[in-house]
Amino acid sequence: MAVPALAGIRRGLVVVAHPDDESFGLGAILAALVGSGIELRLLCFSAGEASTVGAARDLATRRRGELVAAAHVLGLAAIRMKGMPDGRLAGVPQERLRRLIESELESAELLVAFERAGVTRHPDHVAVTAAALAVAAARGLMFLEWGVPGEVADGLRRELGADFDAMDARPPLPVVIAVDRSLQLRAIACHRSQDPDNPVLRTRLRLLGPREWLKVTAPAASRVQGVGLSA
Ligand SMILES: [Zn+2]
Repeated sequence: MAVPALAGIRRGLVVVAHPDDESFGLGAILAALVGSGIELRLLCFSAGEASTVGAARDLATRRRGELVAAAHVLGLAAIRMKGMPDGRLAGVPQERLRRLIESELESAELLVAFERAGVTRHPDHVAVTAAALAVAAARGLMFLEWGVPGEVADGLRRELGADFDAMDARPPLPVVIAVDRSLQLRAIACHRSQDPDNPVLRTRLRLLGPREWLKVTAPAASRVQGVGLSA
């Protein structure tokens, strides 16, 4: 993946709400970034203990183990879990989420997150991305958002009644990259407690095909113009 906007970037921090977000959602993009030589660490705010899929007493422990395995497959350099309350991140002051992200920045030049509407509209996703975006702006970091295009959101609604938000029309414009899903599929399979073969995920990956949509916001407005990615 040649990413002109990310030329020279060597380290990044991926910021997600739940174990599996890094694989079900970001997996193909993370594999591509790592494959292009960027060292990525992962900050995961919750242990996903509130999931109704695979609900069990030891779900948090199980999901931590699944995340470690998936991160290994994707080639992530480190994982930081914050033990924040799954399903209630929108109720945590943004300032606290921002501080937790800042405490894990180290020398990251890039933040990677779900797009601003949260993709699945999960309030945890929205809260985490808002905090990541604020940190990127304050620290002058590159910001990469992953989302789905309108046709994929429409297809998910039509075929399954699934409520996905498409990437919006606000600048920067979304760009499309070609991806190889082999590592993502292996990482997805690590999340055994979360029904990794579920129809919504399967359908989304089929509708996306070997492509992903993302937005890159450069820290200075002047650098946003002309940002383009190619496969
Ligand atoms: Zn999630």
